[in-house]
Amino acid sequence: VAKTAFPNAADTDYANADLRSKAKQALVQVRNSLGKTYLPLINGEYVQTESTLDSVNPSNPTEIVGTIGQIDLSQADEAIAAAKAAFPAWRDTPVQERARILRKAAEIMESRRHELSAWTCLEVGKIIPQADAEVSEAIDFCRYYADEMERLEKGYNYDLAGETNRYFYQPRGIAVVISPWNFPLAIATGMTVAALATGNCTLLKPAAPSSVIAAKIAEILVEAGIPKGAFQYVPGKGSTVGNHLVQHPDVHLIAFTGSQEVGCHIYAEAAKLQPGQKHLKRVIAEMGGKNGIIIDESADLDQAVAGVVYSAFGYTGQKCSACSRVVVLEPAYDAFVQRLIEATKSLNIGSAENPSTTVGPVVDEKARDRVLQYIEQGKQESTLALELPIPDTGYFVSPTLFTDVSPNATIAQEEIFGPVVAIIKAKTFEEALDIANGTNYALTGGLYSRTPSHIEQAYKRFEVGNLYINRTITGAIVSRQPFGGFKLSGVGSKAGGPDYLLQFLEPRHVTENI
Ligand code: GLU
Repeated sequence: VAKTAFPNAADTDYANADLRSKAKQALVQVRNSLGKTYLPLINGEYVQTESTLDSVNPSNPTEIVGTIGQIDLSQADEAIAAAKAAFPAWRDTPVQERARILRKAAEIMESRRHELSAWTCLEVGKIIPQADAEVSEAIDFCRYYADEMERLEKGYNYDLAGETNRYFYQPRGIAVVISPWNFPLAIATGMTVAALATGNCTLLKPAAPSSVIAAKIAEILVEAGIPKGAFQYVPGKGSTVGNHLVQHPDVHLIAFTGSQEVGCHIYAEAAKLQPGQKHLKRVIAEMGGKNGIIIDESADLDQAVAGVVYSAFGYTGQKCSACSRVVVLEPAYDAFVQRLIEATKSLNIGSAENPSTTVGPVVDEKARDRVLQYIEQGKQESTLALELPIPDTGYFVSPTLFTDVSPNATIAQEEIFGPVVAIIKAKTFEEALDIANGTNYALTGGLYSRTPSHIEQAYKRFEVGNLYINRTITGAIVSRQPFGGFKLSGVGSKAGGPDYLLQFLEPRHVTENI
């Protein structure tokens, strides 16, 4: 059903010299504010902690972006208790008022757009135009979920003569949001404001490498007027604090985005009924992908090469939507590979804040070592077609292409989360679809083709949550491309889509005999 389009926030046009200079100034200002300490927000107060953790700039790890106070288990319990105490008032706050706070947060983000992009660039090594797109997405999530809750609040009315039948939604209770570092602003904001819009008291536990940006989200929500206890910022170690929050009997729902391993662990832990727990927990988990792009013999190769380069190497391959497999039909294979190698050679690898950089660092040392291990594995199981020189300092990994990869090779099956592409040859379009579908994941996928029957088959048979035809496979836009997958890519409905908020709500029905 066609609807009026949601008015998405516009990204910055960096062709405009004035806006370029604003972005540059923001980087200077943020650099002057590096190294501050950020404390958890519990029950409306910023609280001291026993331990702290440094968050560093992946382009230059000697630079400390901020020091973050880490909560302990008793502070986690205090935060849950505060959420519990705040719940009745937040539940009963009119939807319009909750929506007003979120729209105010969106306005603050818009006014701090360049600054927020600069923090993202320096804390997680994302180049400025991509960081800017995240600010737009975060703003969209605030406004979209505010609109969506106003729509859902109306509920349904199935009245008959002599009987009213009202169907309506109530919040679930306490939500724990466990956010990833790769979209530190957009995804953390999206999951958090979905939980808040629906009236749940919400705890945000960010991934460690992006805790400063999460502290900025907390700052913005407080400034927008979020009541104490309704929202709390609780940075802490995943294996202890995160686990404790997931297991807590007073928690009703967990919204998670991150690795398949952690997602499956959360799902299992949340399923265990704890002493005193009187409900079952809801888990929304957006996990990984092993996303493939199919290129057939009718594809426009200029478009396909550019699309693969952007989808595979944008944010250094660290998007769960990123392309990590390309399945090419035999007649197009040699030409495509040759052109992809040339196009990849023209990427600029360097510090994320440098305006000419197209590929920045990976997020930390652990990520770099993991990706390097996969590259070693790739060298053993297939043909290395391209590796490029990288800067000496910083957590850099070269964009890497492997050719003649077997569909079952490790590098064609496991999520690498780095700039590594496995190129696979297929004889027929049918076979290409089978190869594309032959992993445990089902998140994004792409097809470059000018053959209507292939496009039609892909619609029907390409098993992914988000399929993109003749375009890049990353960068889903709120409301226009609701985002999320199935199989081992996740559980729960699409972020930025019409079913998302339902997962944060409990439907009720009342019949009155009159
Ligand atoms: N929504 C993002 C995109 O479409 C990806 C999110 C993720 O990496 O978790 O590119």
